Amino acid sequence: MRLPWLLAESEALGQALDAQRLGHAPLLHGPAGIGKRELARWLIGRILCLAPDGQRPCGTCRSCLLLEAGTHPDLFIAAVPEDKTQITVDIVRDLCSGLQLTPSIGQHRVGLIEPADRMNNNAANALLKTLEEPSAKSWLVLVTDRPDLLPATVRSRCQKLALRPPRRDEALGWLRAQCPEQDLDRLELALDLCGDAPLKALELVQGEGLSFGLDVRRILVDLAAGRPVPAGTAEAWSARSRESWDWIAHWVRHWMGGRMGLVSGSGGAELPAHAGDADLARAWQGALEGRSLADTAIRADLLFGKWLLEWQSIFAADG
Ligand SMILES: [Zn+2]
Repeated sequence: MRLPWLLAESEALGQALDAQRLGHAPLLHGPAGIGKRELARWLIGRILCLAPDGQRPCGTCRSCLLLEAGTHPDLFIAAVPEDKTQITVDIVRDLCSGLQLTPSIGQHRVGLIEPADRMNNNAANALLKTLEEPSAKSWLVLVTDRPDLLPATVRSRCQKLALRPPRRDEALGWLRAQCPEQDLDRLELALDLCGDAPLKALELVQGEGLSFGLDVRRILVDLAAGRPVPAGTAEAWSARSRESWDWIAHWVRHWMGGRMGLVSGSGGAELPAHAGDADLARAWQGALEGRSLADTAIRADLLFGKWLLEWQSIFAADG
């Protein structure tokens, strides 16, 4: 297991497997970006490995090599096809019939359904029979960020394994090792934004999403201090409307929290003190409304322009 915060989980899964305590349909769930897929892959490797090394898959047997190559004949995967948005009944039926065959290599066959919440109703119904009549030879591994979207009939027949983000120091340590060239502040910020989900934070840090978010903050602070908005801001934000509203809402909430002493660091100190808490709350509300209108027929640049004027007026009042 290459993700250190999942090491204990993976060892525990290996032990449960050996002690035959693991149900035949584990459902791995938890927030996005914490490594559920990695753990599911690890578990599948452990189930199919021909010569486990203690609790770990050996990595060198025929089964491990085929898994690594993505060509294991006893692994069946149900995922959302590229041109679709759902896992349909045909996909699940194929998976279930594959599981009924005799294993080609070892003792087991495994079906992986990910993300399980994307099965449509017919697909979920087709899965029920396999879930109700587990065979000693076959396993089903389900992975989802949203277990609440799965039918209760499916959920109740799985063994639910809740995964949580690691502690902050552990997440930060791992993130620093992945991108040692990045400022510590940026890494902390990324973890703040992702609820300590390390893989999601890494994506944010490595892409340009975080830089964009910091630009949004700079513009809001400048405006509050009476400095002008750079030309074309509303247009630039409307080109990535949802993301821009998310950032605006994030920063306004961050400043509100700072004033109430709920967040550490610069908090509300970046803004002039005379703006009222109620004004900030209204601005935050406005950002949420803006977000709900993103991708509708309403022109995004006009919404941003209006919001920016209101933001400016909060600080102009007594300034
Ligand atoms: Zn192996």
